[in-house]
Amino acid sequence: MNEFKRQWSVVGAEVLAATNQVGESGWYILGKEVGKFESDLASYMGFKNAIGVANGMDAIEIGLRALGIERGCKVLTTPLTAFATTLAIMRVGAVPVFVDTDSRGLIDLELCGANLKKDRAIKAMVPVHLYGFSVALDSLKELRDEFQLLVVEDCAQAIGAAYGSMKVGTVGQVSATSFYPTKNLGAMGDGGAVLTNDDEIALKSKAIRNYGQSSQYIHAEIGLNSRLDELHASILSRAMLPHLDTWTKRRSEVAKKYLDTIENNDLLLLRPIDGEAPSWHLFPAIVKSGLRQSFQAHLLKNEIASAVHYPRIVPEQEALRAYGSYEVKGGLSMAKSFAENEVSLPIHPFLTDAEVERVIEACNSWKP
Ligand SMILES: *Cc1c(COP(=O)(O)O)cnc(C)c1O
Repeated sequence: MNEFKRQWSVVGAEVLAATNQVGESGWYILGKEVGKFESDLASYMGFKNAIGVANGMDAIEIGLRALGIERGCKVLTTPLTAFATTLAIMRVGAVPVFVDTDSRGLIDLELCGANLKKDRAIKAMVPVHLYGFSVALDSLKELRDEFQLLVVEDCAQAIGAAYGSMKVGTVGQVSATSFYPTKNLGAMGDGGAVLTNDDEIALKSKAIRNYGQSSQYIHAEIGLNSRLDELHASILSRAMLPHLDTWTKRRSEVAKKYLDTIENNDLLLLRPIDGEAPSWHLFPAIVKSGLRQSFQAHLLKNEIASAVHYPRIVPEQEALRAYGSYEVKGGLSMAKSFAENEVSLPIHPFLTDAEVERVIEACNSWKP
């Protein structure tokens, strides 16, 4: 599903130069490289502020805390995502409130609207731009304004994605992203960022990531140790970010090829809507009910990797049951059908044309 060795052949020399830069500076924590990466990332994403943190999950937690979300607050979110999204909500002591997804696996914004009307205690929302698709940003903005919602957009899979003239991450007061190695902009380890146009939220996030320090040795609130290191900031800004557009372009080429040429009545491909530019973090296919094992076995026989995102919906995870404090509004049949039938095909930027052809051929020749 990923080819880190091929990536190294492209970025290796730049990573070593970035490492050297940090070594020679003699400064390893919260120095110039973090500052440089934060300003590079903020301008790439179209934000006033970026705050480098330890990982994507912390970025969501810090974003929620900077917005004042605390114990007992209800936070609308999706049942179909990396568990980290919900775990961040749980870490602030808040109450995740789940509604079903739409036919592309994204939180259903119409259901969100209906539930926000019914339950005025819901003050916040964490939508996820799953697979690199964008939730309808115009509708999200309407919900934000109508219900004075505090929104943290989970952009871990959607860095650089756009919806019409809007970029993902720009509707929420805060956005969060991850530099986990498999993400579109990946580090060689863990990293994440909080993005915001609000200077006060930025300041608060900077304090929270660094033991809650408002200034040296002054701890105004209970913070975390969630800093992005100099080394990773340097690697991200000098070796990875400069390639991101090229990598995203390659992902889109592969996606287009799959969408244009995969034809099998037992596979449903999820398409972008008009004007949407996904980041194509993953390429999900929906397999006809009951046939997923057969399809994955066929891919494996053809030496093609595949994965499932995600095999179990969040409200069915034991950790959430143990936490106890959550709500499910209505049925989750769409999210469950993704959990039962989704298969992700390979779509990283280092796939060769021949490999892409091989995936297409295997999809088209599969007869369950
Ligand atoms: C990867 C991911 C996260 C968590 O990021 P980490 O850096 O691994 O903590 C959160 N949400 C989504 C949707 C993700 O894909």
